[in-house]
Amino acid sequence: MPFTLPQLPYGYDALEPTIDAATMTLHHSKHHQAYVDKLNEGVSEGQGLEGKSLEDILANISAQSKKVRNNGGGHWNHSFFWETMQPGGSQPGGRLAEAIDQSFGSFEAFKTKFNEAGVGQFGSGWVWLILDQSGDLAITSTPAQDNPLMDDAPVRGTPLLGNDVWEHAYYLKYNNRRPEYLAAWWNVVNWDKVAERYEAAAG
Ligand code: MN
Repeated sequence: MPFTLPQLPYGYDALEPTIDAATMTLHHSKHHQAYVDKLNEGVSEGQGLEGKSLEDILANISAQSKKVRNNGGGHWNHSFFWETMQPGGSQPGGRLAEAIDQSFGSFEAFKTKFNEAGVGQFGSGWVWLILDQSGDLAITSTPAQDNPLMDDAPVRGTPLLGNDVWEHAYYLKYNNRRPEYLAAWWNVVNWDKVAERYEAAAG
């Protein structure tokens, strides 16, 4: 089996009260596990995919089946998402904080624009902060389990931060109140991890 469910870097209840333990348990052990299982099926049914990295598969996703697309995106996005969070959250610093101020005016203005993009993503999907192909920070959103690494994404780039706006990410606690979930989520963002991704991508 090429792909496996990664362990969470913290306990299921560690992001309380922002994200409740029941949501985390289902999200990781059921939803993410299902993406992994179906991705492995899709890889075995596809042509020449065995042994390829997930990043390689996503970079040529337009040539793949819907099953590999949805579940490959699902596996990558969720693995990235767990690492984007930490108990207690943090604040951006250093070069990343400067780049955010330069690109969006201020950290507050960045968060407002990101939350608006999350609210504006109709139906299920993701909202992202990326380093785009010109080396600029940009906010973008994608439907379903698509992401900015896919060769046919409307806005391509390196994801630095991503939030899951599928209802399964928030419905148990926030019901239909996606804006409330997006606003609260900043309490659990691991900005050291985001800065590490930024440094690796910006060079
Ligand atoms: Mn999800």
